[in-house]
Amino acid sequence: MNFKRSDLMRCIGIFLAGFLSLNLVGQTDMEIKKDFFEGLNSEEKRVIVDKGTERPFSGEYCDHYERGTYVCKACGTPLYKSTDKFKSGCGWPSFDDEIEGAIIRVRDGSGGMIRTEITCAKCLGHLGHVFEGEMLTENNTRHCVNSISIVFQADKSPPLD
Ligand SMILES: [Zn+2]
Repeated sequence: MNFKRSDLMRCIGIFLAGFLSLNLVGQTDMEIKKDFFEGLNSEEKRVIVDKGTERPFSGEYCDHYERGTYVCKACGTPLYKSTDKFKSGCGWPSFDDEIEGAIIRVRDGSGGMIRTEITCAKCLGHLGHVFEGEMLTENNTRHCVNSISIVFQADKSPPLD
């Protein structure tokens, strides 16, 4: 008999991985609840739920450069760090990187353009669009985010000395 113990372990591993990923999908489905959007006001819903856009230079974080984290207004998930925010001059908060796993990219053909929509990975609330290849920063990426979709949380930890 040439069935090796390592083969058996591999089979079990593959089975477990499949089972866990199915389970994960199930959990994600459970988490995408409309409850996240219930507390939003009508302007927040217009942007976050109906994928609207706030007027340029009107958002509270357009020109905001304090140290901290920007979280999803609907579900509170940390999305962007202040260290990745940069001045793009475009009229909306701009980030050249995201917190890993926090953002989902979706192809968006609305408005006669092909763009990439960005949403919160947890609640799928609309954040804005992401643009690449503009050479604005080293990362060559601009997350163009509606201020109304995010909430700033200041980093209260004392500076290292
Ligand atoms: Zn969210």
